[in-house]
Amino acid sequence: MSNYTSRINPVISVHHLNHYFGRGELRKQVLFDINLDIYPGEIVIMTGPSGSGKTTLLALVGGLRSAQEGSLTILGQEMCGASKRQLMQVRQKIGYIFQAHNLLTFLTAKQNVRMSLELHDRYLNRDIDRLATETLNAVGLGDRLNYYPENLSGGQKQRVAIARALASHPQIVLADEPTASLDKKSGRDVVEIMQRLAKEQGCTILLVTHDNRILDVADRIIQMEDGFLVEAAQDKFLTTSMQAGGGNRSLS
Ligand code: ADP
Ligand code: MG
Repeated sequence: MSNYTSRINPVISVHHLNHYFGRGELRKQVLFDINLDIYPGEIVIMTGPSGSGKTTLLALVGGLRSAQEGSLTILGQEMCGASKRQLMQVRQKIGYIFQAHNLLTFLTAKQNVRMSLELHDRYLNRDIDRLATETLNAVGLGDRLNYYPENLSGGQKQRVAIARALASHPQIVLADEPTASLDKKSGRDVVEIMQRLAKEQGCTILLVTHDNRILDVADRIIQMEDGFLVEAAQDKFLTTSMQAGGGNRSLS
């Protein structure tokens, strides 16, 4: 694929996507006719009330759940009806960051990041120890390489999780409420690190959050309501983020 083509093709393309949980009488539709295109390098924030379907959509985009109905194309691969092997190949190009950092408690910071690289064939012959160290340096944890998670603060653990997600230079990063368990300053630091690394690596970010204080890092904000995706009025969010004290959006 030429650079030109890859620049204009969306990395995430969703058309008429529906999703249901349960079977028979208990079957319940949770996503309704979702349409969404996200382009290379974009940072898109998804907001919306609890239970509106954000995590479900993120899991589908990440190939962590099988798409049932409609079309969902990730990095050129149609996920609806894809084989396990095809899903796995797509998952290898995606970095995941969750609300709970999900670090392995019996591994140090560096070992946690190393492990994510060991899962990739293309890192077999690379110096993964150096790569893990460099990525932890980039998130400001160069002096905590050999610390176990229990000896790191919440913000530090989430930064290890970011290093783990970004070390392999994924084309897409999916983050589900990554700042939910952090105080204001740590939450802000964490998204700014994500933003910086993403811009450096040219990757695309789809981030779910309730946190009004970080909305200004987005290139675009979308909103989920009762299983429907509504493109948020940017003015409304500008006002919200200014009220929350993060209002430098109008300056940029
Ligand atoms: P959000 O992340 O916006 O809070 P979710 O995607 O987690 O929303 O949930 C959307 C809806 O789907 C909710 O009504 C929730 O109860 C339901 N749901 C989520 N996961 C499951 C599941 N594994 N089985 C059945 N229903 C589910
Ligand atoms: Mg959720």
